[in-house]
Amino acid sequence: MSIEKMKEKLNKRLTDHRYIHSLGVVETAVKMAKSFGVDEEKARIAALLHDCAKQIPHDEQLKLCYEYGIETDEIKEKQKGLLHADLGAYVAEAEFGITDKEILDAIKYHTLARENMSDLEKILYLADIIEPNRKEFDGLTELRRLCFLDLDEALLCGLNLSIAHVGNCGGTLHPQTIKAKEYIEKKLMKGKKSLDNSFEKAKIAIKALDKKKASDITCLDVSGLTILADYFVICSASSTTQLKALAEGVEEEFVKAGIETPTHEGRGGAEWLLLDCGDVIVHIFYKEMREFYGLDKLWDDAKKIDIDNLID
Ligand code: FE
Ligand code: FE
Repeated sequence: MSIEKMKEKLNKRLTDHRYIHSLGVVETAVKMAKSFGVDEEKARIAALLHDCAKQIPHDEQLKLCYEYGIETDEIKEKQKGLLHADLGAYVAEAEFGITDKEILDAIKYHTLARENMSDLEKILYLADIIEPNRKEFDGLTELRRLCFLDLDEALLCGLNLSIAHVGNCGGTLHPQTIKAKEYIEKKLMKGKKSLDNSFEKAKIAIKALDKKKASDITCLDVSGLTILADYFVICSASSTTQLKALAEGVEEEFVKAGIETPTHEGRGGAEWLLLDCGDVIVHIFYKEMREFYGLDKLWDDAKKIDIDNLID
């Protein structure tokens, strides 16, 4: 079934509000998928259909779960709003012809999450929370920022927000969500590096980028805004060749200074290179992509460090 056909069919199943929400999730999920190198088409379909069963009355949802042999439990039967995820995966397959297990799992776990989630599952879980039509709530800005930087950190933040929300509403927390949180916490703990002297590191990166003729170098103090890092160094490259050269330039200077070599991550194909130096993260953008991802705007409340005296 084509995406257009799916949209037409979905539109009939959902209220306008819910349909607009689904399109917002599509927009966000596709952008995140592009950024993390995840299949964009799968993200598009999973996001579009994630709430396809949401508008079915709750009692009817439970009846259908019994009828289709979908496993439920005491908590889901009490809080029937949870059923639409499991039922949605079923409906996506039966009525929209989706057979891809990764897409169906992303739909199935978009509400409660689970341990050891795939990147696609994480993206849908998060895009559902941060899509542009969501009303502001405490923690949303921080989560939106994390969602384009680190999927695991973002997932932990998203899970914590959901858990707090369930608590505020007086609901019962599902053990599957608690397990998801414990799993990701453990995973993140393993990856933590020991950090010191972050500004010195940022300075080395800035100088190295300047030496290799990076344009629009910006240094942001993000220490009070995120647990991810103390500084972001952002710059633009005019070609993918220069982008690579800039990354190598930073690495070279780090080696000279005896600092552990940063880990490389390509984002959005070859258009955004991220060097994770522990407490300093260097973002090198192909210049047209810098605006697309909007990192500067997203962090506009971070303190901008004056770097004029650091570079020639
Ligand atoms: Fe949902
Ligand atoms: Fe949703």
